[in-house]
Amino acid sequence: MKLPIILFTCLSLIAISCKKNNVTNGTAASITSLACNSGSFSASATANVAYSATATVPYAGGNGVVYLAGSSINSTGVTGLTASLQAGTLTSSTGNLSYTIAGTPSTSGVASFPISFGGQSCSITLTVNSGGGGGTTRTVYDSIYGAYSITSDGTYVTIKSYDQPNYKSVYWPTSNALYENFFGPTFHDSTFIKAPNSITTQNITLKIPINPSMASTHATTPMGVIGIGLDGVPFFNQYAAGGVAIGGEIHGFDQWWGHPQMSGMYHHHVEPLYLTTVYANKSALMGFLLDGFPVYGPQEIGGATPTGLDQYHGHTHATNEYPNGIYHYHFTADAPYLNGNGFYGTAGTVTQ
Ligand SMILES: [Zn+2]
Ligand SMILES: [Zn+2]
Repeated sequence: MKLPIILFTCLSLIAISCKKNNVTNGTAASITSLACNSGSFSASATANVAYSATATVPYAGGNGVVYLAGSSINSTGVTGLTASLQAGTLTSSTGNLSYTIAGTPSTSGVASFPISFGGQSCSITLTVNSGGGGGTTRTVYDSIYGAYSITSDGTYVTIKSYDQPNYKSVYWPTSNALYENFFGPTFHDSTFIKAPNSITTQNITLKIPINPSMASTHATTPMGVIGIGLDGVPFFNQYAAGGVAIGGEIHGFDQWWGHPQMSGMYHHHVEPLYLTTVYANKSALMGFLLDGFPVYGPQEIGGATPTGLDQYHGHTHATNEYPNGIYHYHFTADAPYLNGNGFYGTAGTVTQ
């Protein structure tokens, strides 16, 4: 009776060792390229909410062999998730690997899964949305998916961001999975000239009034952070360092019309192109200025260019988020792009 048990054990051991190396029938799985940056996920993820999805990663140059399921790979950056290769058969040319993604993301941000298969390695990245509010009632501020914390004391909402855009940029360090070269042209069809700065992690805290109101005196906007986008990336005003117009900086805007300043703080002075073309659309909510008034894209719903903008670069009408009407700013194609002659309302505070 002992022999079959020993045999079974041996077979199990062989199967385990085979699994490790993606080997079946003596031939190792082999591919010539793995395109993590073209990978996709079947569902969007929210911080602290159980997640289950399939990641699809294209490959090329397969050698036609059968491969077994892989062991689970822990996420880095945002932790709490695992990726496990599903069993399959390689084609002899291009195809997709499928990974089961499961777990509960610990926070918002970017979860990376370093995968390795058939002689190729890369990292697939998943953006985890904030969901906001730490379990409290959802508010319009919870749409700031790039924030890692959104809390409220009933008078102010406090929004915290590491300012790590979830999209590719020529300004990520080249070692980052989100680095992508860019040759232009950029905003206003300008020639692109890369600036020497790279995106680095920031820690920005904005405290903005929940019930914004018109100020009796309109403070000028400061240099640096004047508001925040849904992507957690700050808005800057229409001036470069020294209070000069940003004209010269435009050449340095990346594929999404943003750029990092000297300390690596990525920001937008003009339309945040990722939000208006990929995440949402040209008439969508883009974020908030420090005075609590919302910022919308360069079009009204229906595609019209906003009309009647005042000297602060806003006007009042109903929007999707504020059906009873609200004062709001608009991005525009031309200067001053976002804010004109100061805040319409009383600004909150920012630490950066
Ligand atoms: Zn700038
Ligand atoms: Zn409007």
